[in-house]
Amino acid sequence: MLEVKDLNVHFGVIHAIKGISFEVNEGEIVCLIGANGAGKTTTLRSVSGLKKPTSGTITLEGADITSTTPQNRVSRGLSQVPEGRRVFPEMTVQENLDLGAFQHRRISQEDLDEVFGRFPILAERRRQLAGTLSGGEQQMLAMGRALMARPKVLLLDEPSMGLAPLLVQEIFDIIVRINEAGTTVLLVEQNANIALQIATRAYVMETGSIVLAGDAKELAQTDEVKRAYLGG
Ligand code: ATP
Repeated sequence: MLEVKDLNVHFGVIHAIKGISFEVNEGEIVCLIGANGAGKTTTLRSVSGLKKPTSGTITLEGADITSTTPQNRVSRGLSQVPEGRRVFPEMTVQENLDLGAFQHRRISQEDLDEVFGRFPILAERRRQLAGTLSGGEQQMLAMGRALMARPKVLLLDEPSMGLAPLLVQEIFDIIVRINEAGTTVLLVEQNANIALQIATRAYVMETGSIVLAGDAKELAQTDEVKRAYLGG
């Protein structure tokens, strides 16, 4: 479904992503795990078109999208939930969601009902300013906004960031349900523990390279991953 090949990304002289390749098959939850600064966010931003790679190719459903705009990628079915949620704080919940549908040039009541069904708290707070929501609610709003574009592949950057463990569990349960309803997921997480529990497959990144890859449950059992990422 999504294929990244020999991706290189630089920030000036910094070689942040060093020739990585990975794929996400239809129906999967694939996670990229790794320490702070490993290059997970940069990889995700290259996939969504927010950071231009130096070289490499990104293919979505067989089409080369490496040089397309972020907007074009949204209309092709790639939708990103950014790190730190980044909702529009001075706009209401409803307005934030409407913006998510903007790529479709229409705001459908059906899409809105689906998002409110998934996140009932957002329905209750639809007229509240997004900046006044709790961290967990803002994460739900950022996810709801991305879902309004009806993505085929949902890109999630650190959904657990700054959330209490119970809320992290709730957000991850919702990710699983979104996936079960037919959306493919590419997830970036520092919290390897929970990411490996829900993922089909995982890639471990270290200083811009992929150092390990495989079935998520199997990776979670390896000494390397246990020691470096699971605190065991
Ligand atoms: P985190 O979880 O902290 O976001 P990460 O694995 O997502 O970490 P990136 O944010 O992708 O890592 O960063 C990868 C490397 O690229 C780091 O060395 C970082 O310092 C560098 N980098 C990221 N953004 C920039 C930028 N705008 N300018 C310069 N260097 C950057």
